[in-house]
Amino acid sequence: MRNQGRVEGGTDTVTATRAETVGTELGTDTFVRARGVQDPPEGEALWFVMQGAKVLLRQEGPDDKPVIPTASSPEDLGLTVSRRLYIGLFDGVPCIVARLDGDAVPDAYAVHDLRSLYGLVPESAWSVAGLATQLLYWAETTRYCPRTGDETRAKPGEWATECPSCGLTQYPRVSPCIIVLIHDDDRLLLTRQSSWPPNRYSLVAGFVEPGETLEECVAREIAEETGVRVHAPHYVGSQPWPFPHQLMVGFTARYAGGDIVVDHSELEDARWFPLTELPLRPPPMSIAGRIIEGYLEKVGSGQ
Ligand SMILES: [Zn+2]
Repeated sequence: MRNQGRVEGGTDTVTATRAETVGTELGTDTFVRARGVQDPPEGEALWFVMQGAKVLLRQEGPDDKPVIPTASSPEDLGLTVSRRLYIGLFDGVPCIVARLDGDAVPDAYAVHDLRSLYGLVPESAWSVAGLATQLLYWAETTRYCPRTGDETRAKPGEWATECPSCGLTQYPRVSPCIIVLIHDDDRLLLTRQSSWPPNRYSLVAGFVEPGETLEECVAREIAEETGVRVHAPHYVGSQPWPFPHQLMVGFTARYAGGDIVVDHSELEDARWFPLTELPLRPPPMSIAGRIIEGYLEKVGSGQ
């Protein structure tokens, strides 16, 4: 896992309703994404307004619940934005991501990075916010062709820009990463990074490299980071992880042999833990936590 920084695991189920998001009684909580750049439907929209990498939430007073603002236009919200992109319908309501002008946080608003947004708004809205930030990032970083320098244009019907001169197409970036639980009956091999809270351990994770299958990546990352060998991994699920654009692909893999040799360029520690003495686990927003929970349930049920 090199060149792209560290990987963490990221979440899953959509449980909350739009009513919780915006304080109305509407909603069954479905998101239908737009197919490429297009004008939004008329009327009120949910505005995912970005300031840097942070999302602006409306919060009237310190004790009020922060919500994603709803209005027909940013002007109606007292906001000035420089770029806007319609991304889809959340329970039939248009969602628009926009870039806030200036550095000041307007009155009655607060900014939150995506991590701290988790738990403040329903998980479904958090997922849409993750998509919104990634599409805005794509729109802002693909305005020009990296080969010829020409100004690009949006391709109709898909999320892509195209160079009118050389035809180079640029899609929103998605970086596949594996994340894997190494198990050996009643013990788990967990790893930690020095930047994490004390005693928190998690799973081996890393970016897939060109020319590599997911399974090969699992074996390579485990060997590089911990020195051990595993049997063929089993796929258990995936999760978009917008920090900034990973797709976490989750596996479990049974230990096959070898002693732990920690790669200290990436990790502070790697060790076996008995299931009865597990350390602090990854936060609930991450697929890592879900994979560990799933293993514990499976072992507990004797499967
Ligand atoms: Zn070009």
